[in-house]
Amino acid sequence: MAVTETAAREAGQDFIRDIIRADLAAGRHTTVVTRFPPEPNGYLHIGHAKSICLNFGVAEEFDGRCHLRFDDTNPTKEEREYIDAIERDVRWLGFDWGGHLYHASDYFEQLYQWAEHLIRAGKAYVDDQTQEEMRLARGTLTEAGIDSPYRGRGVAENLDLFRRMRAGEYPNGARVLRAKIDMASGNINLRDPVLYRILHAAHPRTGTTWCIYPSYDFAHGQSDAIEGVTHSICTLEFEDHRPLYDWFLENLPVPSRPRQYEFARLNLSYTVLSKRVLTELVRSGRVGGWDDPRMPTLAGLRRRGVPPAAIRDFIKRIGVAKANSIVDVAMLEFSIREHLNKTAQRRMAVLRPLKIVIENYPEGRGEDVEAVNHPEDAGAGTRRVRFGRELFIERDDFMENPPKKFFRLAPGREVRLRYAYFITCREAVKNKAGEVVELRCSYDPATRGGNAPDGRKVQATLHWVSAAEAVPAEIRLYNPLFVRPDPNAGDFAADLNPNSLEIIADARVEPALAAGDSGDAVQFERQGYFCRDPDSMPDRPVFNRTVGLRDSWAKVSGSAD
Ligand code: ATP
Ligand code: MG
Repeated sequence: MAVTETAAREAGQDFIRDIIRADLAAGRHTTVVTRFPPEPNGYLHIGHAKSICLNFGVAEEFDGRCHLRFDDTNPTKEEREYIDAIERDVRWLGFDWGGHLYHASDYFEQLYQWAEHLIRAGKAYVDDQTQEEMRLARGTLTEAGIDSPYRGRGVAENLDLFRRMRAGEYPNGARVLRAKIDMASGNINLRDPVLYRILHAAHPRTGTTWCIYPSYDFAHGQSDAIEGVTHSICTLEFEDHRPLYDWFLENLPVPSRPRQYEFARLNLSYTVLSKRVLTELVRSGRVGGWDDPRMPTLAGLRRRGVPPAAIRDFIKRIGVAKANSIVDVAMLEFSIREHLNKTAQRRMAVLRPLKIVIENYPEGRGEDVEAVNHPEDAGAGTRRVRFGRELFIERDDFMENPPKKFFRLAPGREVRLRYAYFITCREAVKNKAGEVVELRCSYDPATRGGNAPDGRKVQATLHWVSAAEAVPAEIRLYNPLFVRPDPNAGDFAADLNPNSLEIIADARVEPALAAGDSGDAVQFERQGYFCRDPDSMPDRPVFNRTVGLRDSWAKVSGSAD
């Protein structure tokens, strides 16, 4: 069973869903079975989320089922950590495979038997050429390939050699098993593709049982057929593999006949969605790990405070198409903001504190003012915030010589402190270096609650915290990991943003924020949406900025704000 929101159940309108609807109407299938087939060689990213939402989503909408299948045919790159992370992240995104957890390695024996079947049918042979020789003989898009000198081997010799490959008699790379299809095919994937290679490596699940491993192409469609997958949905790169996918299913006694359909992968601006690059970012220490909040991984987005519902909503909005395109990352942020606006409680936090002293407020006194937790949700209630003689406001909210359009605090000017009083700045106190270190202000006791009985207006409302009671906090602001909208995946290091992480070490937050769980979303008034990071200490919380309050991409891309 997948996501339960009714919204997610509305069957969408895209070509995949049209195909499924038509198949069901024509009686070609009674139950829809899909699968999400990650290779456990890295963490899932937002691109995978598109595939997950599509595969699990259609299964849910059409009352079918979706399998989680680990494509674990390459033992050297796969790790337990990745398997656990993938399961956790699919669940977090809101999907459940029920009892349908599978592994390509579950089928190794069956796949081996099918390889022998092809050999017996004269449709596969053992090739002794080196990798380099095979590469050279493969031909090009315009030139046919050249038949291997081993292509004519007889069935008995092929069977014997293949069995000895399995028995471990040869070193890595000494021989491969290839399908015997057509070296002159216009589709290079059909030029005698490799089915098995020798690899003396322990597998996380099958240990040392095998020293030959099937190729992706030989494993994928047959695994689909074994599981009764009806619609095998993958990204466009596999379009040219479809004739091979079909060839195997047509030439083997498989128990069912799945069909492959391709859709456009997700590409996001300012983002690289390549496991190779993401792995390299982690390995080289350029990010703090797979769950670094700057990473486009689901683990990174979760730590950054992005709700899974916002990701599902984003994926729904971008839709499923057959042509590749680049989605503006601002669209993802729009979905995030929309969700957090509804769910996040409001709090006050001062990122860069400037002390103010309210000279006419009695020393040693303090009072509680009432603050609203959510302006659009009365049910969220109110909380008490401590007001007193010494407060912190945002350094940016004061200017000694304000330009015309600056309406916030300045010498002689009156502003509102949210939920509290009107204050007027009397004097800016400076240090020897001439920097403003403190403001001397006065308040109007008649404006309690933030309104003047005489009806006078102020142009700005500032957030603030009590100097005595606010809790010191570290705030982490994130900027895009790449400086270019289309970072080069090849030489990605050149496009990395040196300022992707900005740490504010000495912010002050409402005491109510010191407690709380990691991941709880809050809105810091006027600042953005934040969540508590697991690095938090009891006396020193750490907050990640999930997203600002407004679209900051307009600025990045140079257009008017
Ligand atoms: P690689 O195969 O190079 O390791 P991959 O990103 O394709 O990387 P897989 O684990 O094979 O990783 O992906 C699992 C599934 O997710 C595949 O069906 C793949 O097509 C799909 N997928 C991967 N990247 C995207 C993307 N950017 N958008 C949509 N689907 C994707
Ligand atoms: Mg892949």
